[in-house]
Amino acid sequence: MFIAVDDTDSRDGMCTTFLATELIAEFEDYDLLDHPRLVRLNPNVPWKTRGNGAIVVTLGKGEKKERKIGEIGEEVSLFEGISKRKEDTFQRVKKVVEEWSEFDSEKTNPGFVIADKRPPRRFYEKAVRDVVELDEVLDYLDKEELSYKGYGEKRGLIGALSALSWTPEDRTYELLTYRRKEKWGEHRRIPEEDVIELDQTLKKTFDNYDHEEKKQAVAPNSPCPVLYGVRGEDPEELEKALNIIGGEVPERWITFLTNQGTDDHIQDLSLEEIKPWTSSKITGKVRSESDTIEGGHVFFEIENKKGKITAAAYEPTKGFRNVVKNLIQGDKVELWGGIRKDPITLNIEKMKILQLKNKIVKVSNPKCPECGRSMSSMGTDAGYRCKNCRTKADEDEAKRKKVERELNEGWYETPVSARRHLSKPLARLRDNDHSG
Ligand code: ATP
Repeated sequence: MFIAVDDTDSRDGMCTTFLATELIAEFEDYDLLDHPRLVRLNPNVPWKTRGNGAIVVTLGKGEKKERKIGEIGEEVSLFEGISKRKEDTFQRVKKVVEEWSEFDSEKTNPGFVIADKRPPRRFYEKAVRDVVELDEVLDYLDKEELSYKGYGEKRGLIGALSALSWTPEDRTYELLTYRRKEKWGEHRRIPEEDVIELDQTLKKTFDNYDHEEKKQAVAPNSPCPVLYGVRGEDPEELEKALNIIGGEVPERWITFLTNQGTDDHIQDLSLEEIKPWTSSKITGKVRSESDTIEGGHVFFEIENKKGKITAAAYEPTKGFRNVVKNLIQGDKVELWGGIRKDPITLNIEKMKILQLKNKIVKVSNPKCPECGRSMSSMGTDAGYRCKNCRTKADEDEAKRKKVERELNEGWYETPVSARRHLSKPLARLRDNDHSG
């Protein structure tokens, strides 16, 4: 049986992943048949609280424990046994969700779904890449007669059903540790040297430390119950983190199977097809050098046969902005990122420089063929004229030289602390993907 929950937290506290641990504790008479799942959905939906994550817990009869749930239906017919089990499960999930959801926030609209089989993967595919309407989800839940409950605007049902329908094509794991309740909201003290050691020794982990900003990236900044989370490819290796990171002792921990770091949100849309709140890769040529606005956000335009789009490297992307600032007109790039609205802008997550244009700079104006004096410019691209004898010369007669570019062709990514949960780090891209 699968139990999926979403939208239980507010910015002021709690975390849907913590609720997963409470669900597992509530159903201690069942076996946990799989890693609980932490499924990130479309990072561009405007109503997300933080990382747009939903959870799924898989419970049932395992090899190690007796299946106690069968006893419920012993005295009744099979049909009544099933409906009693359904009702009992529903009430127990409801109790946990209601106890641990932040109902005081308008933005919190929890939902949970209980099912015996996974819904079609299309729900996940749409929810991770696009916007899903609540009606599509309610129609499915009713048609399949699933146990579910939505609170407030019931939006959490979208995330719950979509997370339930995720069957991994690519996957990673995250070990999450949680604090004792009295510590919630207190400043976290994670020894930086421990995170550096972890980063160096656990080779299949990623996004632990921001080497550019020189700060740890395992602990969140929000007042939620999470102490730290470590991401990686191998759940067994992740458990070693518990012996490396010292300081505050976690009260509990669990390893989730996740779609983090998979790029599942990225589509291959043309400039005619893109729309706000989706994510895509777009190839094009740089139209002009970048502009930096107040606040340190950097913008430039790219174009291809289908049109043009503004691309942005916002201030939190720190040193990545220097890469963008060094692009020149004519460079060919592939940009990966989310599409923002008003105006339509591609928020870059990573970039592949496909071709660098030669950078030619003017060294000096041409010499007058009559008198040998240096000629004067008549304006941008307007050519030259000798002030002495009025002789004219074309723009390309100036003396120019090719200068070394400060960039190389290849991949560049935003720093760890500005990275989206779903973005595949280049280290993973290189290990697993041979297309680029
Ligand atoms: P946290 O990371 O702290 O768990 P969150 O960022 O996951 O919080 P939620 O509180 O889960 O944010 O809010 C996201 C809401 O958006 C949920 O109600 C979810 O069902 C809904 N949602 C997620 N993806 C989509 C989508 N593609 N289309 C429409 N609604 C979506």
